[in-house]
Amino acid sequence: MIRPAMPTAAEKRSALLPIGSRVDERGRLELGGCDAVALAREFGTPLYVLAEEDLRARARAYREGFAALGQEDHEVLFATKALPVAAVLGLFAEEGLGADVASEGELRLALRGGVDPSRIALHGNAKSDAELAAAAAAGVGLVVVDSADEAPRVAAAARAHGRRQPVLLRVTPDVAGDTHAAISTGQADSKFGVSLSEAPAVLDALRASPELELRGLHVHVGSLLPDLGPFRDAVAAIAPLGDFPVYDLGGGLGVAYTEGGRDGSIAAHVETAVRAVRELVGPGRRIILEPGRALVAHAGVTLYTVESVKRNVRTWVAVDGGMSDNPRPQMYGASYEAMIADRAEAAGTEHCTVAGKHCESGDVLVADALLPEPRRGDVLATPVTGAYGHAMASNYNAALRPAIVLVGDGEARALVRRETYDDLLARELA
Ligand code: PLP
Repeated sequence: MIRPAMPTAAEKRSALLPIGSRVDERGRLELGGCDAVALAREFGTPLYVLAEEDLRARARAYREGFAALGQEDHEVLFATKALPVAAVLGLFAEEGLGADVASEGELRLALRGGVDPSRIALHGNAKSDAELAAAAAAGVGLVVVDSADEAPRVAAAARAHGRRQPVLLRVTPDVAGDTHAAISTGQADSKFGVSLSEAPAVLDALRASPELELRGLHVHVGSLLPDLGPFRDAVAAIAPLGDFPVYDLGGGLGVAYTEGGRDGSIAAHVETAVRAVRELVGPGRRIILEPGRALVAHAGVTLYTVESVKRNVRTWVAVDGGMSDNPRPQMYGASYEAMIADRAEAAGTEHCTVAGKHCESGDVLVADALLPEPRRGDVLATPVTGAYGHAMASNYNAALRPAIVLVGDGEARALVRRETYDDLLARELA
C-alpha cells in the first residue's frame, strides 16, 4: 500500500505563511517577493505585513465558490472588524466584495476605501442614533436590525433622510459552535439578535413600517468555527420563520493558526451555505456571507525585533511588541508559531517562550516556540496575524501602534503609518 507522504515540517510551516511566501537561497523569509528582514529595517518593528496575493486569492475563492455552484445571486461582505483598513476594503471592493461594518468608524473606513454604499451592511447590538443617521446619510444597502427597539429608530433615521431602508433581522438561532465563549454568538443566551420566539413579532413590526423594506434574515453562529455543521443548523433553525428573498449567514470560518491546525475551506464554507439555503428554504434566494478572519488571517505576518534573550527556568525571547499589537493570546488563549526571519528554515534548537514588552506576565505571544539559537537583534515573525490584531491593537504602556505594509511582486507599500509620539500626545489636554 502506498501511503500519502506526510508533510514535512517546512511544508507545515509554509501552509501558515501567506500565498507567495518562500524561504530564499540564503534561508531568509520572503513575503510577497520582499525580504522580511529588509522590511523590518525599512519600516521599523513591530510591523504588520500583508500579502496582496493572499488577500486577493481568498476573496476570489469566495466569489468562485458561489460561481461554481451557479449561485449568481450572492454577496460577499468583508467583515471590516477583522482588519479595519481603508486600503484593504478598497482592495476587496476591486475583487467584487462589499463590507459589513459594525460601527460608524468602520463605516467611514469602508467609504474611505471606496466601497459602494449600496454594498455595505450596518451591524451592531447597540447602534447609536448617530450611527443610524450616518448609515442613512451614506445610503447603506442594508441595516441589520438587532433588537425590537431598534426597528423604529432605523425607520426614523430613514425618514429623516427621505429614504426607504432595506433591512435584515438578526436572529439568534440557538445554535452553539465549538469555539471560545467570547466569540460564540448563536446560543440562546446571547447579546446579539432577537430570539426565535421574539422574531415573528419583530418581523411584523418591520413589515408594518413604511420606511423599512424587510429583505430577510441574518444569523451569525460565532467566529473561528472548526466545523461547518452549525451553519446548516442555523438555517434550519430560522427556516420556520418564513420565506424571504435574502439570507445572510454571517462569518465564522476557522483558520489554522499553528502547524497541524485545521484550516477552514472557503469552497466548503460557500457550499454549506448555499446547500443549506437551497435545501432548507428553497432555491433562488440571495445568499450573503460575511467572512472576516478567513479572508485576512493568513495574509498577515507580524515582524518584531528581539530585544533580549533571558534564560532562567525557561528561555524568554522578549520582543518589541506584544499584547498591544496582538491581544489574542491573552483574550482567547490563542496559539501562534514563531520563526526567525533570517534563519527561516534552520532547525529549532531551543524551546522558547516569546514574550512581549508589556508590564504583565500574561503578555506572551507564543508559549512554546522551537527557535534556532535566538539572539538579540533577530527579526522574529509570527504568521497568521492578519485578523483581529491591528483591529484590537491598543496603546498599552503608551506603545505606538504598528504600521501596516502591503507586499506583492517584490514591492512594499505602507497602507497605515506607524503611530508617532505626536499622535500619542495629541489627545492630552494638559
Ligand atoms: N459577521 C458578524 C455579524 C460578526 O459578528 C462577525 C465576527 O464577529 C463576522 C461577521 C466575522 O467573523 P469571522 O471573522 O469569524 O469570519
